[in-house]
Amino acid sequence: MILIVDDKPENIFSLKTILELHSFPTDTALSGEEALKKILRQSYALIILDVQMPGMDGFEVAEAIGGYSKARDIPIIFLSAANTDKKFITKGYTSGGSDYITKPVDPDILLLKVKTFYRLYEQNSELNRIQASLRSEIEFRKKVEDELQERARELHSILESIPQIAFTTRADGKIEFVNEQWLRYAPSKQEFPYTHPDDPDLDRQWQKTVASGHALEMEVRVRTEPDEYRFHLLRAIPIHEGDTMLKWVGTFTDIEDQKQAVKKKDQFISIASHELKTPLTTIKAYVQLLDRDIGEEDPTKLYVDRALVQIRKLDNLIVDLLDLSKIESGKLKFNKKLFEFESTLSNAVEMIRQTYPEYRIVRMGKADIQLYGDETRIEQVIINYLTNAVKYSPDNKEIHVEAAVRPDGRLFVLVRDFGIGIKKDHQSNIFSKFYRVEETANRFQGLGIGLYICAEIIRRHEGEFGVESEPGRGSAFYFSVPVLQGPALQAATA
Ligand code: ADP
Repeated sequence: MILIVDDKPENIFSLKTILELHSFPTDTALSGEEALKKILRQSYALIILDVQMPGMDGFEVAEAIGGYSKARDIPIIFLSAANTDKKFITKGYTSGGSDYITKPVDPDILLLKVKTFYRLYEQNSELNRIQASLRSEIEFRKKVEDELQERARELHSILESIPQIAFTTRADGKIEFVNEQWLRYAPSKQEFPYTHPDDPDLDRQWQKTVASGHALEMEVRVRTEPDEYRFHLLRAIPIHEGDTMLKWVGTFTDIEDQKQAVKKKDQFISIASHELKTPLTTIKAYVQLLDRDIGEEDPTKLYVDRALVQIRKLDNLIVDLLDLSKIESGKLKFNKKLFEFESTLSNAVEMIRQTYPEYRIVRMGKADIQLYGDETRIEQVIINYLTNAVKYSPDNKEIHVEAAVRPDGRLFVLVRDFGIGIKKDHQSNIFSKFYRVEETANRFQGLGIGLYICAEIIRRHEGEFGVESEPGRGSAFYFSVPVLQGPALQAATA
């Protein structure tokens, strides 16, 4: 918008007409005082200012405008009829004018000057806008950088205070910080600690991790003395802000002592179960002999039977422990061949029916197939699922057993009970070694290894397993294994 200031309305009218004809928006003021008031309220691209006016003259108005920070940069063109001598013109410029036009106004010259100043004004405002946005961008970046540095300082002091070997890297994996511990085991700040020559190469592993963008968790043996290696758990996680990955934070935690303790425990379980097995087998044989010899009417028969039940329980426990040690040492052997799955399942169900006659076991579906696998081990899984179903549903004595060959050619087996159920957050753990649901562990006896063994057996048959459960409503344990046929079966049996 252009402001025309003149005390004569006819002058204003002619200037306004010329400018508006050329699409310049205009505003007008009939005195210097009115012009100043308008300038304070609104911003203008250009002011055309008459010099001779009653009250404030044009020069005084220009000087006053120069005092307003908001309006200081608006170009001013003076209009004057009379004084064209040099002194007068100089005064116009020193009071803040940008140009000078004498009356009578030549419309072409006026338009040329207005266009030039208008364009200059526009360019100037654009430059100012860009400058302002650049300034705020720079300030914003500086603030973010300061915050990041502050956070990095905090993170580094935390990593300095922990006993682990710790480091951070940039998003591209280049190490940027290592704590004091690092320097005790690594050749330099830029290189990973020395690890056992038989362990995977850490540099290569790290490159793979960075490329994948996923957290890393692995065990490595870190050289802690010239000829001593200790197991460490290396964990590294990517740190994100929104969608951008900022850095990686990693630690090496010494787990050698835990490893040794686990090894000793495994050794103990292995030795103890072996040592217990032999005398128990002898006891079992003698009690079975006794049971056979004793008459049905004999009052001690009841005690012998009870002893046999307990011996069987003990025997199962020891067998489980032996299986556990075999899994740990990689010695769990499988004797795979083709067998009639339906009869194995029926036998298992029948056995549970006889042992727990108070339970109603409902069979659903049929799987009349020949399965390639270890029959005893598959039966072991089914019996385990069934005995758990019995054990964990003391108040609802119905159990469903489903078996089917699915359209994808896999055998699917499911054991459903209506017992105590399992909370969601425990469900992913119950197939782990020694895991028992804490809230119910005291009510039900057990070691927490049955499902672990089942999981291993199913895995070794290239199968899948899982549980669906709702607390208070029951659980459904299932597994599925491929039913090999044709060339796949020939290849497996060859
Ligand atoms: P154990 O029964 O000897 O504790 P398992 O490995 O067979 O060991 O089972 C692990 C845990 O899973 C059990 O301690 C129990 O908490 C839970 N669990 C297994 N089966 C069921 C089931 N049918 N219903 C509810 N909880 C179950």
